[in-house]
Amino acid sequence: MDLYSGYINRLIAELSVLPGIGQKTAQRLAFYMINMPKESVEKLAGAMVEARNKVKYCKCCFTLTDDEICPICSNSKRDHKQIMVVENTRDLHAYEKTGRYEGVYHVLHGAINPSMGIGPNDIRLKELIERLEHDVDEVIIATNSSIEGETTAMYISKLIKPTGIRVTRIASGVPVGGELEYIDEVTLSRALDARVEL
Ligand code: ZN
Repeated sequence: MDLYSGYINRLIAELSVLPGIGQKTAQRLAFYMINMPKESVEKLAGAMVEARNKVKYCKCCFTLTDDEICPICSNSKRDHKQIMVVENTRDLHAYEKTGRYEGVYHVLHGAINPSMGIGPNDIRLKELIERLEHDVDEVIIATNSSIEGETTAMYISKLIKPTGIRVTRIASGVPVGGELEYIDEVTLSRALDARVEL
């Protein structure tokens, strides 16, 4: 038996696809939207479609950006010889918020996770190695301290070591299993300062 209108059911079904949104939350959001001013709903839907269509990957560091090259990569004041490797754009933002890091980034868009069938070729690793053909002094590995993040860090370090480029790993202060995006700025800054050679 359908309790709601078919339209509401469809909206609930679409919303519950989103991460962290269960059936109950989806229902609450759907009913909220039905009561929103029409223009607000159109603005929301428009923002979603536009973001999905217009946001692209930076050709250099692969973060999400509106331009071909992101504002960080195109900033000549940043140290382009220092590359911090992060798992996703949210982690990049976490480090940017510290205001302490002056190098550039490389966004992997994931981490190696054999149990989920995610191997080195499924993340932007090849692109990182290609960047090392240019003038690079140091690669700072700032993947999460989860098993996947550590596996990825080890893998990258083994790949880079033979090139003679300095490889470091952000240090203590980042709790085991901790996700970078949820860690405060002071802790992130300390982890960067106390990074260790790999
Ligand atoms: Zn970039």
